Amino acid sequence: MGGTFDPIHMGHLVTAEEARQQFNLDYVIFIPSGSPPHKRNITITSAEHRYLMTVLAVIANPYFAVSRYEIDRDKPSYTIDTVKHFSEVYGQRAKLYFITGADAILEIMTWKDYSELLSRCFFIAASRPGYPFRKLQELAKTVPEINSSVRFLEIPAMAISSTFIRKRVAQGKTIKYLTPDPVEQYIRKNKLYVR
Ligand code: NAP
Repeated sequence: MGGTFDPIHMGHLVTAEEARQQFNLDYVIFIPSGSPPHKRNITITSAEHRYLMTVLAVIANPYFAVSRYEIDRDKPSYTIDTVKHFSEVYGQRAKLYFITGADAILEIMTWKDYSELLSRCFFIAASRPGYPFRKLQELAKTVPEINSSVRFLEIPAMAISSTFIRKRVAQGKTIKYLTPDPVEQYIRKNKLYVR
């Protein structure tokens, strides 16, 4: 499961658990982005903070793990490199699924080596309520490799977003129950997202 996770929240966790069950996955590895190529001009929280919050969030689930692969690279985090890495680690016979937001996948044709990427793994596109899959479904109709590789997953809990959490913290509002307690405590302790 790839994402910036700035911060991780209940929507991500529900998405991962739902994907695990629906697609019969052995486990879900959360991969916080290191240096996202499409966010060069956007300030994001340090990779180490985002990694640690992700660890705190998944620690109690035996089917969840967190990888440092992207954050330890000193190069931009291209998904093709990550997928190749995990193919090598788990072998050619492993069936890989890359879980992420549907709106991120909508841009997949701008990603590095997208055609090879779509041939190497399935994508699980998670959407929040009210966000129509329509655009991605229309794209899939015209691009056969997207059609055969992308699966859809609507997640009511994705009504929560990282942006919403960052805004609430900046406004001094509670974020209890939007993210696991240890993540909330980490945010408070490290004074993240305060203006
Ligand atoms: P983003 O643009 O920050 O987020 C786009 C949307 O997807 C947001 O609504 C976001 O909600 C949601 N989202 C992100 N990760 C999610 C997840 N794991 N589960 C459910 N929803 C999720 O997207 P991003 O986080 O930067 O990128 C997503 C993934 O695509 C990352 O792994 C990134 O490395 C990869 N990517 C690769 C390339 C490339 O290879 N060239 C380019 C772009 C993205 P929240 O803000 O609430 O998470």
